[in-house]
Amino acid sequence: MKYCENCGKSLKEGQKYCENCGTATESNRETFNRIKRAENLNKRKK
Ligand SMILES: [Zn+2]
Repeated sequence: MKYCENCGKSLKEGQKYCENCGTATESNRETFNRIKRAENLNKRKK
């Protein structure tokens, strides 16, 4: 079982956000960072 990095609440499989504090779960943050990185690359090109 996974736990929230912020508050330590147990997270269900596939849960994208902690239902207690709203922090993005680890897997969701990876996706978020990937999108952020892509956005930064696009900005640099322009
Ligand atoms: Zn939490």
